[in-house]
Amino acid sequence: MKFIYDNIMYAELNTKSDYCQECGFDGEILIDENMEWYCPNCGNRNHDTMNVARRTCGYIGSNFWNKGRTQEIKERVVHLDNKDMED
Ligand SMILES: [Zn+2]
Repeated sequence: MKFIYDNIMYAELNTKSDYCQECGFDGEILIDENMEWYCPNCGNRNHDTMNVARRTCGYIGSNFWNKGRTQEIKERVVHLDNKDMED
């Protein structure tokens, strides 16, 4: 966070705080190999009863995405292991 403050004019932190209305799960709704969203807690796959928000093309969206964009979201990697940032 200090590195961002000192070196970068613009940065964002993206968190995954999805929600499953079926079971109350609060965390990251996952994507299976068929690019379908599902709740890792109860297996719910109904888009009408889950809230998913991801940043795509610069904006936070929550209306679900086409298959290509969903695959891109699925293949994203989280970079939290960079120890160089701590100094
Ligand atoms: Zn659930």
